[in-house]
Amino acid sequence: KLRLEGVIKSFGANDVLCGVDLSVDEGEMVCLIGASGSGKSTLLRCLNLLEPIDDGRILLDGVDISEPDLDPLPVRQRMGLVFQSYNLFPHMTAFENVMLAPRRVLRKSRAELAPGVESLFARFGLAAQMGHYPDQLSGGQQQRVAIIRALAMRPEVMLFDEVTSSLDPELVGEVLDVLRLLKSEGMTMVLATHEMGFARDAADKVCFLDGGRILEEGPPATIFTDPHEPRTREFLRRVL
Ligand code: ATP
Ligand code: MG
Repeated sequence: KLRLEGVIKSFGANDVLCGVDLSVDEGEMVCLIGASGSGKSTLLRCLNLLEPIDDGRILLDGVDISEPDLDPLPVRQRMGLVFQSYNLFPHMTAFENVMLAPRRVLRKSRAELAPGVESLFARFGLAAQMGHYPDQLSGGQQQRVAIIRALAMRPEVMLFDEVTSSLDPELVGEVLDVLRLLKSEGMTMVLATHEMGFARDAADKVCFLDGGRILEEGPPATIFTDPHEPRTREFLRRVL
């Protein structure tokens, strides 16, 4: 589905990604772990074409999407990205927030879009909150609305960057449940996460980023219980 080959990205003299190879199969959930500054967010931003890469290739269904003169908009439509901060418009209801991008980008009418959007709210347990403004929602509910907003574009791949990091601990679970539900429905997902417990029980593949590379990758059972690389072991000892 998604393939990175030798992806290189620097910010000035700071080499952040130094040859990243990664493949993500259809329906797979891949978790990126690694120390702060190891390049997890940069990798997701490069995937979504928010940052140009310096070298290497990014293939989506076999098509190189990293060519500099390619129009990024259709690619971003196929790959939704959700951040730590939900960035909902405060003056619009949850429903209007979700409708905005599909109306503009997919150029569909309210009537055409509304049933699909309503069913997304229902599916993620927010049917009663559609008419609420962001300040009338909890952090966990706002983050779920942000996820629904990305899903309303009908993406084929979802990218999540620390989507639970700014939530109170008791709200983390409801957002992780949304990710589990998406996985059960077959969504292809790449997550940067500090939630090691979640990565351990939900990921198909865990990738440890270190020194601008994926130093080690494998099924969570291997990475978390029997990592080969001393640096993976050291990282896990610090965070677990
Ligand atoms: P965290 O776990 O703290 O979120 P991360 O693994 O997501 O960390 P990145 O945010 O990708 O790490 O940052 C990797 C490196 O790239 C850091 O050294 C950071 O300072 C640098 N960096 C990221 N974005 C930019 C930018 N737009 N301009 C310059 N440097 C940047
Ligand atoms: Mg980050």
